[in-house]
Amino acid sequence: MPRLAFELVVQAAIEVPLLTRASYHGRVPRVIRTMCPMNCHPTLCGMLVEVDDGRVLRVSGDVDNPDSRGFLCVRGQAAPEILDNPRRLLYPMLRATRSDGWRRATWDEALDTIATRMRAVGREAVATWSGHGIFANNYGTRIHSHLLRRFSNIHGCQWWSPAIICWALGGFGLGLTGLLEPNTKEDMGANAAMIVLWGANLASQPNTARHLAAARRRGARIVTIDVRETEAAAQSDETLLIRPGTDAALALALMHVIVTDSLVDRDFVGRHTVGFERLAAHVHAYTPEWAAAVTGIEATRIVDLARRYATTRPAMIVVGGSSMHKASNGWQAARAIACLPALTGQVGIPGGGLGPRHGASLRGQVLGNIVALERRPPGDYVPDQMSRITESLVTGHVRVLLLFGTDMLSSFADANRVAEGLARQELIVSYDLFENDTARRFADVLLPATSWLEELGCKATNTHVYLMPQVLGPPGETRSVPWVLRALAERLGLEDFFPWKDDAALVDAMLDVPATRHANVASLVAEGGMRAMNVSHVGHPDLTFPTPSGKLELFSERAVTLGLPGLPVFEAPGTEPSHPLTLRQGRTLTAFHSFYDHGRALPSLAKADPEPVLWISPDDAAARGITDGSRIAMRNARGEMRCRAHVTAKIPAGTVWMRDGWSELNTLTSGEAVIPDAAVDALGFSAGQAAFDASVEVAPGDDPPR
Ligand code: SF4
Repeated sequence: MPRLAFELVVQAAIEVPLLTRASYHGRVPRVIRTMCPMNCHPTLCGMLVEVDDGRVLRVSGDVDNPDSRGFLCVRGQAAPEILDNPRRLLYPMLRATRSDGWRRATWDEALDTIATRMRAVGREAVATWSGHGIFANNYGTRIHSHLLRRFSNIHGCQWWSPAIICWALGGFGLGLTGLLEPNTKEDMGANAAMIVLWGANLASQPNTARHLAAARRRGARIVTIDVRETEAAAQSDETLLIRPGTDAALALALMHVIVTDSLVDRDFVGRHTVGFERLAAHVHAYTPEWAAAVTGIEATRIVDLARRYATTRPAMIVVGGSSMHKASNGWQAARAIACLPALTGQVGIPGGGLGPRHGASLRGQVLGNIVALERRPPGDYVPDQMSRITESLVTGHVRVLLLFGTDMLSSFADANRVAEGLARQELIVSYDLFENDTARRFADVLLPATSWLEELGCKATNTHVYLMPQVLGPPGETRSVPWVLRALAERLGLEDFFPWKDDAALVDAMLDVPATRHANVASLVAEGGMRAMNVSHVGHPDLTFPTPSGKLELFSERAVTLGLPGLPVFEAPGTEPSHPLTLRQGRTLTAFHSFYDHGRALPSLAKADPEPVLWISPDDAAARGITDGSRIAMRNARGEMRCRAHVTAKIPAGTVWMRDGWSELNTLTSGEAVIPDAAVDALGFSAGQAAFDASVEVAPGDDPPR
């Protein structure tokens, strides 16, 4: 069988003038323009890297990057700790059983082992699954994810969309109404007169903060709605703390006031929406007083917010990217919130609509299609539904699992059930920079990954495309995703899997489209590594919408067809008297999901965020004999987690909150399907996220946190 010879292809690096005249031991280092290897889209930050004699001296924010303007957070500044890190995976590793130690293997042995087992179980028992790690150097273009999907389509194995772990269920709610395209952060800063940050936090999109401040300097009013006082709340004129899982109730009450007070934009509604009369009758029952009892927000504040939003023009709502949609009824919040700009005619205008959102694309932001869907053979495919995926691992439908840049145990809900499925796999392969919990407990093969300076990358924000040149040789025997997939495809006889002459040609295949004004690697190098895209800063600028009617659907026949309510509804979250605290997860500035083994592999991030910490209110803490900083145990019927208490008045009684990504956290979450199988792919993207709901009880605990 032919083997791929590994070639180090050093791409033309994008050198920028030195910012200082400093020299190092008499040598002048090169300064390379690239991007941070994290994915907090819509924030993606430009990075300058000083390199001397094959070593990185330091990184800094790129002041010329139009998205980040020199900003580089603690996560980006920690990136050099990836290089020369003693925990870095540098060689393929194998072990005979999961209780054995690892032994170094050659790439040929590792790849032969994988291909042999894949053939033995048959293509439908093989699955590929990727996490944010596969996008580290290509978020926004998603080149490696598309390549993995191409591999899976041509081979005919299981492939599931990583969107189901992330933004897609929120997108599903917005998409049923028809409001998927955001306005940009630049538009927000320049034009919005009111900004409602609804479950949206600046720890997730720090670059929005600059534009928020600009809007505020112009006199815009900023309102935050969240389950706790976030970093965004500190930048807001007003904060409404809401009970978890009741956002749809608040949105329905806001609609009630807008309709009752005759604040509806009748002309816009008549021309660009369907179902107004049904919605108006529907929201009649959802009074502010009713919503106050449900949400915990006073009725007068609900009335004031509704009137202010409807009478301020333009007003923008920035909807949270992931956390607020992870509950079983979270998508219904997005569905209901999307009706507010529709009722008030705040769509398709500068400063209005919905603001920057993780995973959202602007009008015209379409890149090349390399996934070869037409070559996918018929098969017994497991739907893009998290609960069904877990089931397929447990039942043996899937027996060989190839993981790329993911800690599946930490990202899936109901982690104990996932662990049960992983334990039954005949072969698990983990391709990553570092071992993580899934790899430590269940992998049979480790494949060492290249990092951001060691391969060609290309990222895109909502407005710009950025090249990430290769400037270092890959350490040890690390290899890129394209190299690994090509080598596996050759062993499996997948014809025409990689028809491009090299990785640069692959990037060109994605970029050479109208949205980028036909950019390619060569043109980006010539232009200093960045290019503005040909996109609209205003969502839905021509007032067309991706719904069956082409209008904004206040009532959705499509939803009814899918077995869902035609109107936006509120379904009360379940309660468990023995576990009375509602757990929510979110983001901090010191971590990004399970990257770098939950940050523990990078010393500065491990120091900044050494252990899981639970936010708990003073009342809830006192009632349980818990003090600030003490060790506690959080439990429910599904699982248990040890952590440390952060007693703070910034979270109301009844709610507890923790940064996401800690492995044990999802032993507590539900994992139940949220929408029917038939609905998960109905809107052109996969929305099969499971419920991450968890009701918990917390008690003092002596065990040290792990
Ligand atoms: S916010 Fe931080 S982690 Fe995210 S892209 Fe910017 S520098 Fe990187």
